Amino acid sequence: TVVQVGNHEPAGEKDRTRERGLYSSLFRRRFTIDDFDVGPPLGKGKFGNVYLARLKENHFIVALKVLFKSQIENEGLEHQIRREIEIQWHLQHPNILRLYNYFHDADRVYLILEYAPRGELYKELRKKQKFDEQQTATIIEELADALIYCRDKKVIHRDIKPESLLLGFRGEVKIADFGWSVHTPSLRSKTRCGPLDYLPPEMIEGRRYAAKMDLWCIGVLCYELLVGNPPFESASHNETYRRILKVDVRFPLSMPLGAQDLISRLLRYNPQDRLPLAQIPKHPWVQAHSRS
Ligand code: AMP
Repeated sequence: TVVQVGNHEPAGEKDRTRERGLYSSLFRRRFTIDDFDVGPPLGKGKFGNVYLARLKENHFIVALKVLFKSQIENEGLEHQIRREIEIQWHLQHPNILRLYNYFHDADRVYLILEYAPRGELYKELRKKQKFDEQQTATIIEELADALIYCRDKKVIHRDIKPESLLLGFRGEVKIADFGWSVHTPSLRSKTRCGPLDYLPPEMIEGRRYAAKMDLWCIGVLCYELLVGNPPFESASHNETYRRILKVDVRFPLSMPLGAQDLISRLLRYNPQDRLPLAQIPKHPWVQAHSRS
């Protein structure tokens, strides 16, 4: 099995140079599965598993996502998957999981992904029940930074929820799942996605997707991280829909006022009224508590 993860935390300049060398070899050429030592599975996805793996030549650790062509074709998702790969391939940001390279054989497509050593944000949240202000504010700031970067590249993410967020070595957030992202010029899809808890009102009411959806989702996430459950969680789907449409948010007494202020500015029925993305890192509560 492959467990050496030390090369994700280089200590000095020498290590950093070595790291750059290891890393640059990932872009160099075409790969085959024989170039990797494949370790234990990290998780199961819709179209195949993700494995911890190591490049044989220099022991660089990666996550290898294996997709079965037959399954992708059965569901008619070739175009969507290709789009996901192309989008992720072009995004280079510390809070977006890096897609280093990809290759395929007769039956499978392999994505060579950055390995996120601390796994799913969701699991860490369930383990800890809730996060403190510092961890939450840091994650919110990192997400806002990553989404500002995406917006500048004309990519709307649309799927900010704990399940699509992974954690790096230092607990930094990594947006991992671009399955539902769209390039703004082809803004046409009306498909529903994501769990109910993160649906903004404009999606429930079937209005067009707007760039403001992520703002709502960041508000829901900020609440869920601090409280331990999402704000509109209810016994039935209908009740959740009703509460989302009324923007029926109830803050527990323990919720810090600064965070309440941020969440209230993000959870607005009208997308135009939501705090703009660029204002999130500048919000006083984020400034006061974020580690970055
Ligand atoms: P996915 O098919 O992308 O939904 O991945 C399935 C599961 O594998 C995720 O929920 C994670 O638990 C795990 N996983 C995926 N990619 C990585 C990665 N790059 N680093 C660590 N764990 C991962």
